[in-house]
Amino acid sequence: MRRIPSIFLPMAICSVLAMPVMITAQVKAQQPATSATKSRPSATAAAQSSPAQVKMKAFIDALMKKMTIDEKIGQLNLLVGGEATTGSVVSTGVEDKIRKGQVGGIFSVTSPQRIRKVQELAINNSRLKIPIIFGLDVIHGYRTAFPIPLALAASWDMPLIERSARMAAQEASADGLNWTFSPMVDISRDPRWGRIAESSGEDPFLGSAIARAMVKGYQGDDLSKNNTLMACVKHFALYGASEAGRDYHSVDMSRIKMYNDYFPPYKAAVDAGVGSVMSSFNDVEGIPATGNKWLLTDVLRKQWGFKGMVVSDYTSVNEMIDHGLGDLQAVSALSLKAGLDMDMVGEGFLTTLKKSLQEGKVTQAEIDNACRRILEAKYKLGLFDDPYRYCDENRAKTEIFTDATRKIARETATRTFVLLKNQNNTLPLQRKGTIALVGPLANSKENMVGTWAVSAEPSKATSLLDGLKQVAGSNVNIVYARGANVTEDSALEARTSIFGKLMERDNRNADTLIAEALKAAAGADVIVAAMGELAEMTGEASSRTDLNLPHSQKKLLEALIATGKPVVMVLFTGRPLSIVEEDAKLPAILNVWFGGSEAGPAIADVLFGDQNPSGKITATFPRNVGQIPIYYSYRNTGRPLQGDNFQKFRSNYLDVSNTPLYPFGYGLSYTSFNYSDIVLSSAKMKGNQQLIAKITVTNSGKVEGEEVVQLYIRDKVASNTRPLKELKGFQKILLQPGESKQVSFTVSTEELKFYNHELKHIWEAGEFEIMIGGNSRDTKSATVWWDK
Ligand code: BGC
Repeated sequence: MRRIPSIFLPMAICSVLAMPVMITAQVKAQQPATSATKSRPSATAAAQSSPAQVKMKAFIDALMKKMTIDEKIGQLNLLVGGEATTGSVVSTGVEDKIRKGQVGGIFSVTSPQRIRKVQELAINNSRLKIPIIFGLDVIHGYRTAFPIPLALAASWDMPLIERSARMAAQEASADGLNWTFSPMVDISRDPRWGRIAESSGEDPFLGSAIARAMVKGYQGDDLSKNNTLMACVKHFALYGASEAGRDYHSVDMSRIKMYNDYFPPYKAAVDAGVGSVMSSFNDVEGIPATGNKWLLTDVLRKQWGFKGMVVSDYTSVNEMIDHGLGDLQAVSALSLKAGLDMDMVGEGFLTTLKKSLQEGKVTQAEIDNACRRILEAKYKLGLFDDPYRYCDENRAKTEIFTDATRKIARETATRTFVLLKNQNNTLPLQRKGTIALVGPLANSKENMVGTWAVSAEPSKATSLLDGLKQVAGSNVNIVYARGANVTEDSALEARTSIFGKLMERDNRNADTLIAEALKAAAGADVIVAAMGELAEMTGEASSRTDLNLPHSQKKLLEALIATGKPVVMVLFTGRPLSIVEEDAKLPAILNVWFGGSEAGPAIADVLFGDQNPSGKITATFPRNVGQIPIYYSYRNTGRPLQGDNFQKFRSNYLDVSNTPLYPFGYGLSYTSFNYSDIVLSSAKMKGNQQLIAKITVTNSGKVEGEEVVQLYIRDKVASNTRPLKELKGFQKILLQPGESKQVSFTVSTEELKFYNHELKHIWEAGEFEIMIGGNSRDTKSATVWWDK
């Protein structure tokens, strides 16, 4: 996080806005079954005329009658406070602007005391006493950090994910906040992109389920309760498809792909009642999302029926000047007309909209509509009833970073780890003998909370070394050595320190560090190597083109392997890495992402087998960076590769297989699962009948374990090219050793639908393959014929 130099802040507001920085950085989507371009009949028409809606409208009508044009434009202005900024521009003169009624919302100010003071400025000094809305990037937990979103997704556990959002809302609202810029639901199939860490990965079906769970967790069933937050789904749209994985880069995509693969999670959030939407930095079909009327009005409001407010990303209105769309007045007018309501930090709306109105470049109705949507959000949050309803100092003292929240964070983390390899039952570790814990991430608190944890307290996180000591018990001797720096490239390391240093370099030479590690390993029975990325090697503006383990760590691993002792790699990462060599050479790899405040003990719980890993990856791990974009739901081509070996004039590479290192949905357990054949309720279906697909899963190992049973469908003949498989259902089940459970999925024509070349959401009669398994590669299969 960048701290705002206090010279930017007038003295009076400094104390309020600039606080010390604590920074480290199975429900189905109800798609309209008609054309995507056809407007949706007002889905909320009934709700609009409910007594509560009528009351809200009357209140806001009356308020808006009193508002001057300046006051209305003031509501459209979102400023940043002194705690965390992510752009090069920061807000100035904030206090003065609040007094003048020129501020609708502020983000990055926390604590009931500070928020009360800022709110008082608005209520006591501005003419109409309109309350301010207070936001923050509460992305994966608040003070108690939960695992990064890509890790949470790997749990495939919707109640768990919903609970993590609920806990974040509970803590953040106890600290005065009422709005979070989350969930981030951008589909990403490019691990070079640093923000894949903030996403749920590559799949629209799973991403939609997660979007719904998060919105529900944050917003609960009543936004006006003082323990809920208004959610903001972002970044609308397609931000995860930036060309070459470079952040903020252009996006170019067919509408078929948008509607089938990239839009569903945003729409799922809208259908779940998300209160706000954030426009993205990138362009979509040549127009930046923030000024894209097709996106913000035609798709979002007309087709999907979204009624809430749309906020820009950080200065994304102004950034349209660099996109080449005109000066600040022009891009501000373009954004308002496109359907944007609130301008984050850039003040283009504040400084130019009045002039544009006078010159006829925007209309009064456009300004009124945007203002109304922001006032409605404040109304729903209950701020007009009590602007201080989130300012309860007692809650701040008792509900934040408690033993209970830490316990839940630990339990959650254990369920996100993915066992990538486990030869000869190397894991779990035995609770006896000596463990050498080696590696640059073994003794780091700061990196545990992961990227985009602006409010977490990294110094209170528990490192793997401490966690291991806590959990191991007295029969285990743990020796530690760092062994290597994360990377030999100190310049790269420095670039990841923009929000504060995550790790001090050890300036001794590499051989000395390795020698120390070998000394520690000499008397050990097993070596645990804590390797991977620094937390800020992922996240915003942290794209990478090399996804191998850095050379310094590879060298250390080679030396450790040469000892002949079993080496378990604990892999810290915010993205899929290409670890082909490590997979070939090491007996066991546990991917732990960045697990949050309680990462250390949670990893130890899994290493010692107190918890059995059950996570499955939700973004494909490539063999090398040249395979990217790589994802499981690709289409066949006219020259598909048959078998695994190279074939000339077929779609494959000369130098690498088409297959990924680890496929989507993959993850092992300390036990093993057998799948029976699939039993279908019928091999011939008609119209709206429901197909039941059953499979029996047996725990064939010695310990209890959870398995994510996944259902995929292939539409074998259609009027458009269709993916080889698409996830259409999943269930996470717990099985005791020897226990079998029958898992049954209901498939209806909803699961067969796709957006065709005319963007009609249809299904077509014909043959479908139903596949069920424990990952997207290893599935059983059955065929069904479905007639109209
Ligand atoms: C990010 C958003 C974030 C915003 C406010 C931007 O740089 O793209 O995800 O919500 O900053 O912090």
